[in-house]
Amino acid sequence: MQDPIIQVRGLRKAYGRLVVLRDVDLDVQPSERLVVIGPSGSGKSSLLRCLNYLTRPDAGTIAIDGVPLDDDEATINAVRAEVGMVFQRFNLFGHLTAVENVALAPRLVRGVAPTVSRERAAELLDKVGLADKIDSYPSTLSGGQQQRVAIARALAMTPKVMLFDEVTSALDPELVHEVLIVMKQLADEGMTMLVVTHEMRFAEEVGTRLIFMDEGAIVEQGAPGDVLRSPEHPRTQAFLERVLW
Ligand code: ADP
Ligand code: MG
Repeated sequence: MQDPIIQVRGLRKAYGRLVVLRDVDLDVQPSERLVVIGPSGSGKSSLLRCLNYLTRPDAGTIAIDGVPLDDDEATINAVRAEVGMVFQRFNLFGHLTAVENVALAPRLVRGVAPTVSRERAAELLDKVGLADKIDSYPSTLSGGQQQRVAIARALAMTPKVMLFDEVTSALDPELVHEVLIVMKQLADEGMTMLVVTHEMRFAEEVGTRLIFMDEGAIVEQGAPGDVLRSPEHPRTQAFLERVLW
């Protein structure tokens, strides 16, 4: 077995008396596609957000590619650059074109020359199927197109890991597919991915492992098809009975 690219031990987070992560342990190997499912409020977003320190854990350890996360700002920034994240809401800059949105962080954070970052941004937009939209402003793009720009923007930092938090949940149904195709393409290229999703067919097709979370804990995990089709834990069973797919 290779060294895990993500190693989480005893991760704990509470908001006041509400415990949202209870001593979570998790190893993710390079090129794994880990799908995370679970009811609303079970801690899925909190887990992802802790992995790049958008949320500070109360206890436990996280190491990304062998580098332990701590409160040191330089370490946090270094690790954040390795861990790309895409959210349900795209949060593109409305006053910047698609290519400017994608080129921004490498220029500001990595000091990449403007011409170089722009060229690379155009390549990434081509990769997500938006070669003809590089000079478009977000407001002129569909939700699916904006989400693909957001994926290209995360990829522009050449992350080692990509975190996707319900990235298709806010999209009109007919736009979901074009985003999932881009994610599948990334998976095929060997990207390590953590994907919180309700798209169970995608989970089964693209995921290499699936975890079911409830009340801040990993309740069950296994091959996606096994967990989805024959869940063993009563709470997983109850959740999947309520989910249509
Ligand atoms: P999920 O993504 O599985 O829906 P979250 O990790 O977003 O769950 O949230 C877990 C719980 O923590 C929820 O009950 C949510 O309301 C609560 N929570 C999340 N963020 C905060 C916050 N900043 N302050 C207080 N409570 C929060
Ligand atoms: Mg969430």
